[in-house]
Amino acid sequence: NARAAEPYVRLYDHAADPHRPERLSLMGDLKIAIEQDALELAYQPKLEPRTGRVVGAEALVRWTHPRRGFVPPDSFIPLAEETGAIRHLTRWGLRRALRQSAAWAAAGHDLRMSVNLSVRDLGDASLPDRIDALLAETGLKADRLMLEITESAIMGEPEAAIVLLRRLADRGVELSIDDFGVGQSSFAYLRRLPVREIKIDRSFVKALDETAQDQAIVHSIIKLGHSLGYKVTAEGVENGASLNLLAEMGCDLAQGYYIARPLMPGAFADFLASHAAGG
Ligand code: C2E
Ligand code: CA
Ligand code: CA
Ligand code: CA
Repeated sequence: NARAAEPYVRLYDHAADPHRPERLSLMGDLKIAIEQDALELAYQPKLEPRTGRVVGAEALVRWTHPRRGFVPPDSFIPLAEETGAIRHLTRWGLRRALRQSAAWAAAGHDLRMSVNLSVRDLGDASLPDRIDALLAETGLKADRLMLEITESAIMGEPEAAIVLLRRLADRGVELSIDDFGVGQSSFAYLRRLPVREIKIDRSFVKALDETAQDQAIVHSIIKLGHSLGYKVTAEGVENGASLNLLAEMGCDLAQGYYIARPLMPGAFADFLASHAAGG
């Protein structure tokens, strides 16, 4: 049917990517899911290894597609970045996450909420005003919000990143460098950014207890981070021995399946009830 194929023909080269129509229809469905508020956020606790206190959470999007079932973020986030739909997703995620954060605060849990930004968000000049409005709406202080962005995203658009991230930091919003250690780090750029936290990529952490080389790398990143004034979080902590090692190395925060999987709000509340939560 030539007419049905027309939009794809105009926009894309079928020969170059035979999956294109399917990916476009997935992005159409994502747009609808955002508009209908049909996505969910799961929250993964961030814990202080030395005290066991839960001090924050990372919001991670979850999409159950009406026909395909669960679609993992790694498969639709890159597409949403390509098509620009990510900006809508980010706005939706910020609103949902900050409302959740306000609900926890009302229940007496003062947690810092981490939300992921992508490279395309760095071109969204309206983001600081939107965040201001959401903070005003929820009554949360700006430093309760932390934005996670990967090194590779920053290095892809360094000047734009610096301008936008400084505007956000001027408001008191905190900045975290995600997947630290796997991108092309440029300290020349990082030191121009108001970085609060670096997050050691989970590839260095998952077998920490049994890999001397990973221990050397993680320990070095912690010392480097601290000497630059950053808090250091390790993600992907999958066993107790690794968590103990991180405590000994002075790592500030840990996140991973051993502590908790990303949890839906009800399960997160249960988790908080069974752990000392602090701010
Ligand atoms: P990320 O930001 O590095 O998020 C951490 C990922 O590691 C999450 O996968 C989380 O479920 C997983 N994880 C946590 N603990 C462990 C562990 O102990 N072991 C292992 N093997 N994995 C662990 P998830 O939720 O599938 O998200 C994958 C990626 O998709 C995220 O990586 C992030 O880049 C992106 N993403 C997820 N939600 C959002 C969102 O709302 N906005 C944007 N821009 N990106 C998102
Ligand atoms: Ca992240
Ligand atoms: Ca990460
Ligand atoms: Ca990642």
